[in-house]
Amino acid sequence: MAIQVKTLDQLKTMRRAGLVVAEIHKAIREAIKPGMTTSALDTIAEAVIKRHGATSNFKGYHGFPATICVSVNDEIVHGIPGDRVINDGDVVSVDCGAIIDGWHGDAAFSIGIGTIDPEDQKLMDVCEESMWRGIAAGKNGAKLSDIGYAIEQYTNSQGKYGILQEYGGHGIGTEMHQEPHVLNFGKAGNGPEIIPGFVLAIEPMITRGSARTKVLADDWTVVSADKSRGSHFEHTYAILPDGKPFVLTSFDGGKAELARLGVVVSDLL
Ligand code: MG
Ligand code: MG
Repeated sequence: MAIQVKTLDQLKTMRRAGLVVAEIHKAIREAIKPGMTTSALDTIAEAVIKRHGATSNFKGYHGFPATICVSVNDEIVHGIPGDRVINDGDVVSVDCGAIIDGWHGDAAFSIGIGTIDPEDQKLMDVCEESMWRGIAAGKNGAKLSDIGYAIEQYTNSQGKYGILQEYGGHGIGTEMHQEPHVLNFGKAGNGPEIIPGFVLAIEPMITRGSARTKVLADDWTVVSADKSRGSHFEHTYAILPDGKPFVLTSFDGGKAELARLGVVVSDLL
């Protein structure tokens, strides 16, 4: 399947979907605390989606039963909200999306609860920064594999982390998961050229140990094989017609984080 190239008008609608995702993240970040169940976070996400007249792209996705994925500690991605209680010291990863007028947004973050092991905090910081490095590398005219190269190089420069191999980023538009698949590792200079109208979800997933994973008996939850803790960050970004990027799922379009890396975001949205 060809990569879907979006028009400026379509990107404007995707920005609306992205802002709903940003609002969900904000609401969950503000509410999350020890003693809460993971299903209480799901309820918050549902309310935000409803308030904005959006729909969830997670609920019902291949039978997924909830609005968010919530993955705790050695769970890395695709955890199902439920009765699990969030504790002090946990690392919680939340992934969610929203649809507006048929266009999708998708983003994830990890957060430490209460008093955090400094190594867990570093895990999350490295994962998040690798995502920004990946987005910065995925500029107009770059090759797709430049993104994974940047993610892997940065992650490996920070210590011994396992970069998940079986899961990666993706194109996104009128469906949540589109071509191309975006690896979080690999050599630079390969794959399609990134051009205006591309929209990609960049989502590194790393652990403090092995990159090997298992899927739990619920058929969804991905855990590290060695029980090491994991982190997951994701943003959806676009290349605008002016050739500049814009992070659709970030309130400021990624302006502040990308400026640190010498990248200027578009002002077309
Ligand atoms: Mg996601
Ligand atoms: Mg995604």
